[in-house]
Amino acid sequence: MRVLQVSAELFPLLKTGGLADVTGALPAALAQLGCDVRLLLPGLPALRDGLVDVQPVGDYLAPWGERVGLLRGRLPALSGEPLAYLIDAPALYQRAGGPYADAQGRAWDDNQRRFGLLGMVAAALAVGLDSQWLPQIVHAHDWHAALAPACLFYQRLRSGQGARSVFTVHNLAYQGLFPAAAFGDLGLPALAFQMRGVEFHGQLSFMKAGLQFADRITTVSPSYAREMLTVEQGCGLDGLLRKRQSVLTGILNGVDTAVWNPARDPLIARPYDAGRLGAKAVNKAALQAEMGLAARPEALLFGVVSRLTEQKGLQLVLEGLPQLLARGGQLVVLGSGDPALQQAFGNAAQAHPEAVALHAGYDEPRSHRVFAGSDVTLVPSRFEPCGLTQLYGLAYASLPLVHRIGGLADSVVDCALENLADDSATGFVFEHFGAADYDAALRRAFALHAQPTAWRRVQRTALRQRFDWAATARQLLEVYRAATAPFDGQTAPGARANPA
Ligand code: ADP
Repeated sequence: MRVLQVSAELFPLLKTGGLADVTGALPAALAQLGCDVRLLLPGLPALRDGLVDVQPVGDYLAPWGERVGLLRGRLPALSGEPLAYLIDAPALYQRAGGPYADAQGRAWDDNQRRFGLLGMVAAALAVGLDSQWLPQIVHAHDWHAALAPACLFYQRLRSGQGARSVFTVHNLAYQGLFPAAAFGDLGLPALAFQMRGVEFHGQLSFMKAGLQFADRITTVSPSYAREMLTVEQGCGLDGLLRKRQSVLTGILNGVDTAVWNPARDPLIARPYDAGRLGAKAVNKAALQAEMGLAARPEALLFGVVSRLTEQKGLQLVLEGLPQLLARGGQLVVLGSGDPALQQAFGNAAQAHPEAVALHAGYDEPRSHRVFAGSDVTLVPSRFEPCGLTQLYGLAYASLPLVHRIGGLADSVVDCALENLADDSATGFVFEHFGAADYDAALRRAFALHAQPTAWRRVQRTALRQRFDWAATARQLLEVYRAATAPFDGQTAPGARANPA
């Protein structure tokens, strides 16, 4: 199966969140199953710098009259060194600031062009822009690549040619909304700007383009696949998603064990595994020292590695901090984002320097040391499509404390008595998003920690959990097969003259 994976982020070259971890790990996992995977990326500086053996493939005339180049090269930073296509358009991509916004956090005002091109060029590749390679599947990730299914749909309608599309939603809350005037930049037929197309309450929605036109839709956990159908979590797209439910699959993300493995992690103070759990104490002492906390081996040390946003539920951590401290706990926060949250954790660290520490910023190596050194990984998110940090917590025997939602619900088992009894418990799960349930989970963590043998047992169960990419890739391959299968009455839009 020839697969073109389209994304704006790619670990280890460019990462703002879990999306990059997924797109960086999937190519090798799919290649293991015999897929011929290539990537399509925007020409952002960090991605361009990662490409070697670069050759021009051709060029593409954008609907607004700009001619952009297409390069092909290899990505040595990724396992298996996959081939990648990169859109070479310095005027669009070579800018200081982030991939989506400038240094002040303002979204670039031509993002519909910068990311729309991912979809347009993917469709061009599907009809021979590179005469040597034609994808059968275009797999687009998140709103940045979500125009691809729409471009492929209309191309197929026009010419009967092209690839099938699979669209993965990593977070429905980020939709890629633009003023209606931006539609003219996309090269889609005028009839696409309607309620049954890419129009969303008068605006242009990239996310809707992906959901409306993809042959198959996936999201990153089975629970989120159900939750996104509800008004509460559908972000206004639940109606469309319910219509397309028959082609929607939830597949839990995996953990890249080449990167996240405490037995072979060069970034942590002392390697450990289930047979050498005692060495975790060395990592804890190192983390306490690095973050300037009191050296207290007995303190229950909580870690947060997170974007600081409303979604992540960190206000519960702030509200529950007095109880956490009163019970003798410590807290390490590694995060960046919302200035108010950052300020609040900074204030707490100032008030309790021996017990609370904040490292404001994005720091990949330090994140490994937080998982290795902490006893508990806090992920109390309001909503969480999959969540990777609880998986990393499990892999590093830092027991996750999570809200029962989305991928958190699918990956952590609470230390209730019956789960302790049958050795299925791996962490602490609270039901309702609020201070009372969060505090009860905190108390369970302290109570279990007071029983070192039981704690060690749960750590061992956590370390035994396998969230390997091979399993995720196998399920995805099934989705690709379904997308390329002859029309079965469900693979909707591509087989009809008009979208659903
Ligand atoms: P999201 O994609 O919503 O941010 P995920 O849990 O899916 O949440 O993925 C977050 C990824 O980003 C994880 O790999 C996590 O370790 C990483 N991360 C988040 N904040 C930081 C930070 N401040 N420093 C280093 N890594 C971080």
